Amino acid sequence: MLGAEAVEIWTDVPGMFSANPRQVPDARLLSRLDYAEAQEIATTGAKVLHPRCIHPLREVRVPLLIKDTNRPELPGTAIGWSTVQTAPSVKAISSRKGITLVSMESISMWQQVGFLADVFGAFKAHGLSVDLIGSSETNVTVSLDPSDNLLDSDVLARLCADLEAFCRVKVIAPCAAITMVGRGMRAMLHRLSAVLAEFGALDVHLISQSSNNLNLTFVVDEGLADALIPRLHALLIRAEAMRVDDAAVFGPSWRELAEGAAAAPRPAWWRHRREALLALAASGSPRYAYDLDEVRARARDLRALGAVDRWHYALKANPHPAILQVLHEEGFAFECVSIAEVEHVRRTLPALPPERILFTPNFAPREEYRAGLAAGVRMTLDALHPIVEWGADFADRDILLRVDLGSGRGHHDKVKTGGAQSKFGVALDEIETFREHARRHGARIVGLHAHLGSGILDTGHWRGVYAQIASLAERFNRIEMLDIGGGLGVPSRPDDAALDLAGLDATLAEVRSAYPQFKLWMEPGRYLVAEAGVLLGRVTQVKRKGEVHYVGIDAGMNSLIRPALYEAWHAIVNLTRLDEPPADLVQVVGPICETGDVLGHNRRLPPCREGDVILIAEAGAYGAVMGSRYNLREPAAEVIV
Ligand code: PLP
Repeated sequence: MLGAEAVEIWTDVPGMFSANPRQVPDARLLSRLDYAEAQEIATTGAKVLHPRCIHPLREVRVPLLIKDTNRPELPGTAIGWSTVQTAPSVKAISSRKGITLVSMESISMWQQVGFLADVFGAFKAHGLSVDLIGSSETNVTVSLDPSDNLLDSDVLARLCADLEAFCRVKVIAPCAAITMVGRGMRAMLHRLSAVLAEFGALDVHLISQSSNNLNLTFVVDEGLADALIPRLHALLIRAEAMRVDDAAVFGPSWRELAEGAAAAPRPAWWRHRREALLALAASGSPRYAYDLDEVRARARDLRALGAVDRWHYALKANPHPAILQVLHEEGFAFECVSIAEVEHVRRTLPALPPERILFTPNFAPREEYRAGLAAGVRMTLDALHPIVEWGADFADRDILLRVDLGSGRGHHDKVKTGGAQSKFGVALDEIETFREHARRHGARIVGLHAHLGSGILDTGHWRGVYAQIASLAERFNRIEMLDIGGGLGVPSRPDDAALDLAGLDATLAEVRSAYPQFKLWMEPGRYLVAEAGVLLGRVTQVKRKGEVHYVGIDAGMNSLIRPALYEAWHAIVNLTRLDEPPADLVQVVGPICETGDVLGHNRRLPPCREGDVILIAEAGAYGAVMGSRYNLREPAAEVIV
């Protein structure tokens, strides 16, 4: 009635969050919501706003701002009509407890006119308001929310008695309703597979999708909710269903706000080298640019871990000679997967003793094994075939045996290298057969090896691998070393926490102390080089199709295939306009004749113009080396800066 410009609510929290921050410290502040989303979040669990306060503002389009009295400098949550285009995203996940389900079963309800009217009449007669509904040919199940209803056992008993006239009734309680909220939920279903898999392991009583396409709710036993919510929040971010990289919608996390600026990650090297990188791109693009100081720094981080006796660099990640040189200087040995890689290291580092090369071929032809043996490098066998069919080649040789411990890990299914669906390693039930053939041919198994995947950020993984292969190794009589692979991840998505190296060292030292007789080897690739490399491309054209904006650059999937192949997420910035605020939501695409030639979906960049330099970060690992000449376009050349 006042025609107010805005309503401000000053309270003791910074605004609405993507989950209850007391349950999920990584929950993100929601800086901008439309009325309907805010209403839905308030109704399904968030306590900051009473759900009924939004409606009168929405009617007259008065924006609502939630601000923190103790920290007025924080942006808060702005609720209004949405004016900015945002990526489709789950905005929040919440849970409500104390939910009662009433399941009504009747074989005669199918096509029986008025069945629903009868049962809902009973709810109405007892003053009960129904929240969620699921139905089939013979069953209707509804939920009763304690915040809408005065529920006690008397009311329920009277309701059930009335309902028994039409159907068999079962009450399931206490339950929790877990709800994901976001505009256009149905369009996000394809991103939710990991989240749905999590529910797949549980007994889900009811699934309900709101007809306004704003929420998806799962009802489970109440006791499950507290542990489930943080897991689901993390999975939503990982699956890019919750687009926390979109700074127009998602603010800092509760944890960051609590810890203050001290928690800010170290700024990427390329921010300080902006002028040099712009000059490099001006002299020709696309270009990969590598900073060797970064490689050296990561190498030293790893060499500082006392628990590991020998580090190998898995050069498949990036075989650039200058990188091999740095890692050699830093005391790294080398892990190769083809005879061409072996020859490349030997050419680049002629003084390297062959014993410091570990050769781990997979389904390679016999000649490669023979060439490896002739060169005197250490060989890892990962199948029965070489020892059964070509056993004489390994007579009187020391070999390592790569085992498959039964399941893989990693940032994408395509980089998991364990389990029957992966082609690597000897299955546990074939190890004895392998040993018999090795014995028959006089080959000595002196090491066990297991590399189960890439991009792993959980230190417990290597502890588990070590413990498993160490207990296996005790069955052998001359095992000297255990190689627990690489796979050390680097944070790529905005919410990834960095690998806890001190924690890794401590956990490995602890598990090693049970098996002091074995040397511990590791063989990371990505960790050493990913952050040291960036891909620079120049804007070729911009385009709009309906709501969708494209920024085209001269670097495509033939230079960096990871987004297309692994749905990998790389940070992307407009280096020319690094200081300008991000504004437009764009698809960053390359010039290759493939719809999949997308380097980043729904990225927020300042308005881009032809010639601007776009930087794609963390591109030092599995970037240039996986480049191709597809479309006869040369992939980006590599430059050390
Ligand atoms: N070791 C082996 C046998 C591998 O196959 C790989 C990667 O494919 C690595 C080490 C290195 O993995 P990452 O680069 O994830 O450390």
